[in-house]
Amino acid sequence: MLEMEDIWAGYDEQPVVKGVSLKVQKHEKVVIMGPSGSGKSTLLKTAVLLVKPFKGRIYLDGEELTAENVDLRAARAKTGFVFQSYNLFPHLKVIDNITLPLRIVKGYTREEAIKKALEVLEEVNLRGFEEKYPLQLSGGQQQRVAIARALAMDPILLLLDEPTSALDPELKAEVLDTLKEVARRGIAMLAVTHELDFTKEIADRVIIMEDGAIVESGQAKEVLENPSTERTRKFLRLIQ
Ligand code: ATP
Ligand code: MG
Repeated sequence: MLEMEDIWAGYDEQPVVKGVSLKVQKHEKVVIMGPSGSGKSTLLKTAVLLVKPFKGRIYLDGEELTAENVDLRAARAKTGFVFQSYNLFPHLKVIDNITLPLRIVKGYTREEAIKKALEVLEEVNLRGFEEKYPLQLSGGQQQRVAIARALAMDPILLLLDEPTSALDPELKAEVLDTLKEVARRGIAMLAVTHELDFTKEIADRVIIMEDGAIVESGQAKEVLENPSTERTRKFLRLIQ
């Protein structure tokens, strides 16, 4: 469903992702972990060409995104992206934060967009908040709006970049619960997170990145409880 083949990517001609290949199958949940600066966010952005790879091929839903003349906007509309900081439009109400991309990217009418927005707000347990502005919400609520906005696009793949790392522990739990619900719906996920319990619960596969490369990949239990290198063992001890 998502397939990345020998991806080299980075900034100013300096690679920070160095020859990564990975696949996410339909409905599969893959968690990426690894030390700061190892290239996790860059890899995630590269998956939908928010960062253009220097080399390698990317396929999403059977379409090669790295081919010439690809309609990237249409391809990205099949995915949802949730970042560490919520990236809501502060001057727009919750409802408008969700309906705006539906109208622009999906071409929904106002009525269709509102209907969909109310549905996804229900899913993240935020019905009744539609007229609020982001700054009137807690961090956890804002992040749930960001998740609702991503879900509203009916993505086949959800990309999550440390969606709870900016939150206080008590707010983390509510966002993780929401994401567990989303995971149960069967959308494929590629998530960067260091939340171990969440990962053990939802991940089909865990990947550890170090210095731009995948150093471990396997079932969550295997990788988290019995990593093959000392370096990974050290890293996992740090995030316990
Ligand atoms: P963290 O856990 O801190 O989020 P990460 O694994 O997500 O780290 P990246 O954000 O992908 O790592 O960064 C990998 C390297 O690329 C780092 O050295 C970083 O400084 C560099 N980098 C990231 N974004 C940019 C950018 N927009 N321009 C230039 N260099 C960047
Ligand atoms: Mg990052």
